Amino acid sequence: MPAITTRGIVLRYANYRDHDRMLTLLTPGYGRVDVLSRGCRRPKSALMPASELFVTGEFVVFMQNEHATLTSCTLDDTFYPLRLDPYRLTCASYMTALCAAAVQPGENAASLYALLLKGLYYLAYDNDADALETTTAFLLLFADVNGYRPRLSRCAHCRTPLDLTNGAPFDVAAGGLCCPDCASRATYCMTLDAIKWMSETIRNGLTPQKNTGAGTLFDVLRRYVESRLETPIKVSKLLP
Ligand SMILES: [Zn+2]
Repeated sequence: MPAITTRGIVLRYANYRDHDRMLTLLTPGYGRVDVLSRGCRRPKSALMPASELFVTGEFVVFMQNEHATLTSCTLDDTFYPLRLDPYRLTCASYMTALCAAAVQPGENAASLYALLLKGLYYLAYDNDADALETTTAFLLLFADVNGYRPRLSRCAHCRTPLDLTNGAPFDVAAGGLCCPDCASRATYCMTLDAIKWMSETIRNGLTPQKNTGAGTLFDVLRRYVESRLETPIKVSKLLP
């Protein structure tokens, strides 16, 4: 496999030597790809525009002895408007940091890739989308894509079907709602509206959130998702 051509999003970078950068890409078919962008910090480098956070496009990567080097990139989008709004920039950085913590090399990450692309798109271009609420929906769907969708119809401890008429307690450690008998370890009480919002969001996928009240769930979903990841997410402390 001397060279691969793949869609990708730059999740993070680290400056390296005098003029280089190591990029971490999220790709649909190869999962995480760590790639050296050689000379990208030199003035006039053709790789400079492709070596920034959030950039998406078609990357050509040369592989040799487990080292990957960026050869070229055809840009699709830089999500430039994110740079003009510090709060949206923070939300977008949180989304990419979550993906960087979750994605592994060599795995199919098509769903995660599609989710992040939508998230960045709404934050950058949909001025009516509420940034925190859209990020909250992203958190829920991120959990779903990574295989830990919260349990919403049966108790997360004893699997009893739940009566949700008056809402239900949510247990972060157990991964979902729980019945009154198992509620002692629950940390947060979720309203029926919040539970309906979660079910609908899982059914419909990511949409730009506009005053749905989802932001009230941000903290509990953040704690839920971050408890499943092994790396601390520093940018998380800047939100909401
Ligand atoms: Zn129970």
